[in-house]
Amino acid sequence: MSTEVVAVSAVSAEQLQSPSAPAQQIAVEKVNLLGMSRPQMEKFFEDMGEKKFRAGQVMKWIHQFFVTDFAQMTNISGKLREKLEKICEIKAPEVVHKNYSKDGTRKWVFRVGDGEGSLVETVLIPAEHRSGLRRTLCISSQVGCALDCSFCSTGKQGFQRDLSQAEIIGQLWMANYSYMEDVPVLERERSVTNVVMMGMGEPLLNYDAVLNSMRTMLDDFAYGMSKRRVTLSTSGVVPKIDQMVKDIDVALAISLHAPNDELRNELVPINKKYPLEQLIAACQRYIAKDGNESSRKHVTIEYVMLDGVNDHPEHAQQMIRLLKNLPSKINLIPFNPFPHAPYGRSSRNRIISFQKTLSDAGFVCTIRQTRGDDIDAACGQLVGQVADRTRRAEQWKKKVAQQNEILRSQG
Ligand code: SF4
Repeated sequence: MSTEVVAVSAVSAEQLQSPSAPAQQIAVEKVNLLGMSRPQMEKFFEDMGEKKFRAGQVMKWIHQFFVTDFAQMTNISGKLREKLEKICEIKAPEVVHKNYSKDGTRKWVFRVGDGEGSLVETVLIPAEHRSGLRRTLCISSQVGCALDCSFCSTGKQGFQRDLSQAEIIGQLWMANYSYMEDVPVLERERSVTNVVMMGMGEPLLNYDAVLNSMRTMLDDFAYGMSKRRVTLSTSGVVPKIDQMVKDIDVALAISLHAPNDELRNELVPINKKYPLEQLIAACQRYIAKDGNESSRKHVTIEYVMLDGVNDHPEHAQQMIRLLKNLPSKINLIPFNPFPHAPYGRSSRNRIISFQKTLSDAGFVCTIRQTRGDDIDAACGQLVGQVADRTRRAEQWKKKVAQQNEILRSQG
């Protein structure tokens, strides 16, 4: 939220109505409407003394027409637009770096605070699919991550803070807007077809903000995405998987990466708290019993291929035993090395033979294509590069200032 001095007689929606509020210039934190789910926005409008259906209208302008200026919301009365202008804003996080690959992959680094490292990244990957072109957006949920998986560049940056709803939905908003910037407002469309909550951070450790953001993704007044096209990926926060099953129906992916506890404790340390037996049981509880929930017919298993670490034939056999009672699709991910990474990428032959073992056992097993190689970086690495450049630029500025100071003092 930003702070602006505006001539209003209130600091909140309720106070805006109050005739006794002092009419004077006061500092007001504008409320950012971007991240609000529909129930939250309806309450906001009701508290302001407005009809709650206004929330749906405003949400459509924000999330379907990518409008940030209340003056462009033509089906809303001038009086209400003026009121909104005074106390609200629609503000996506600031883009500090963007990179569009030749193959259609797009990456953004967003600044989400004042600190040097307050950066998160978002990646959009296009792919042809039998149902048409898919544009899948990988969204971050935290600045850094506390879970410190040993193969992960983000984990090495430590944890700073959770992202707000506006910062999470802002990534989806900006990715869509990047295709629509030059299109007249009423002709704008949503371009992102799929979302995976698989960027920086563990989404289930920022539960409420991620849940409300996913609700906005599914909401017909916002992005109207199908529940099969919104996937939450977790490293295995078991109690929160159970909670999520009660709260929302979306697809689930597990960052597994190891087929036994000993290796997983090393690669994904949260496994020490919620070992494989508990994790697999939670996934089984997630699978819809009545078969009606199309998003919950299987779990996606993510498995990063680390040379000589988790890619032996015996590991593939252990996977078969581990997953035998869990409807699952397995996605093998060739490791994307980053500076000082303690691992290397498994050879192509190793990955293919691992896939064959699993496929022969009846699993649907795919190998993730590496995309956007000309701009590529492992998840979290791009942020590291941008932070490094920012740090170097700041150090350079300081050095120049110091030299100028010395020259001045020397007369
Ligand atoms: S893999 Fe995911 S959960 Fe593990 S440290 Fe990286 S961002 Fe966090």
